[in-house]
Amino acid sequence: MTDLPLRDDLVGQVPYGAPQLDVPVQLNVNENPYPPSQALVDDLAAAVADVAGRLNRYPDREAWLLRQDLAGYLARREQVTVDATQVWAANGSNEVMHQLMQAFGGPGRTALGFSPTYAMYPDYCRDTFTTWVTAPREADFSLDPTVAVDAVRRHRPVITILTSPNNPTGTALPLETAVAVLEATGEYGGLVVVDEAYAEFRRPGTPTALSLLGKEKRLVVTRTMSKAFAFAGTRVGYCVASPDVVDALRIVRLPYHLSAVTQVVARTAIAHAGELLAQVDVLRDERDRLVAWLREQDLAVAESDANFVYFGRFVDRDAVWRGLLEQGVLIRATGPAGWLRVSVGTADETASFKDALTEVLPASPRA
Ligand code: PMP
Repeated sequence: MTDLPLRDDLVGQVPYGAPQLDVPVQLNVNENPYPPSQALVDDLAAAVADVAGRLNRYPDREAWLLRQDLAGYLARREQVTVDATQVWAANGSNEVMHQLMQAFGGPGRTALGFSPTYAMYPDYCRDTFTTWVTAPREADFSLDPTVAVDAVRRHRPVITILTSPNNPTGTALPLETAVAVLEATGEYGGLVVVDEAYAEFRRPGTPTALSLLGKEKRLVVTRTMSKAFAFAGTRVGYCVASPDVVDALRIVRLPYHLSAVTQVVARTAIAHAGELLAQVDVLRDERDRLVAWLREQDLAVAESDANFVYFGRFVDRDAVWRGLLEQGVLIRATGPAGWLRVSVGTADETASFKDALTEVLPASPRA
């Protein structure tokens, strides 16, 4: 590497990513544990066979039919009416966020987030020469609106990222916080991006920022098919925003960024949304039981509106992580010292996790 003309700011950097280890119980990257049903697999195979005969041609650059289907999904699931011109799709919400930074970030510009939060945000900023700044969440990982508004006034970020539910903590935001941040950023016209990658897992009564879209041209809500749709392997994420924001993303996107196979496969999954989303309810119940069980073990557990649970605090969380791994259970050591994150799996996977943790706990001092 040392001989290569790598950008100075990338020297010594390492690629982002959780370990991909081949162990029996994988609860480390917030995947949905349920594979596609045979009916969906059959429809996917037919859809791919159909498009395969046209793969000599480039795909629809605008992914128009997929965007229409995503708008239809949101209308059914969230009762929000959005036009396909307000929806933009890319290879995972990672790519959508990267495109947002490409279009609106850049040298001399700042993006603001609230830590602890998703570890990729600083990387999007690095890649686009955008300055990344953070303000802290409270001890329970909620976000104090006055802290958020003060940070906006201090930094005047071109993009403020509100992650709801937040990763790695699982914390959702009240709508009033998004409204307060929209007002503060309105003083100079900054964008507010609400990252709702886990929104479908939220508890009843927890709001979505989609309900604010009608009034706000500076609001962008990002979502993904990786989690609730159990479709992480396909790589489809999307955002909903004003048509002007979408037009800005169309400037920076690479031509034909979404393959014809991706588009058709995603549309097939959306046609099966009812079946896929039914499993979200199962996972939500499993999550609530897991939160209760961890609390019974006298652990600190963050409120979760996502498909994962954040718990601690251990003097040596890495030792706990290793102890679980030795028993074939892979979780994630991420965020503030002492805390661990476990994704919600099937009932069997949760049972394996509980058994493994029960083994490890007696030898794991709490902080
Ligand atoms: N936002 C958050 C908060 C996430 O946790 C993740 C995935 N871990 C993403 C965005 C990106 O997901 P994807 O690219 O699979 O849509």
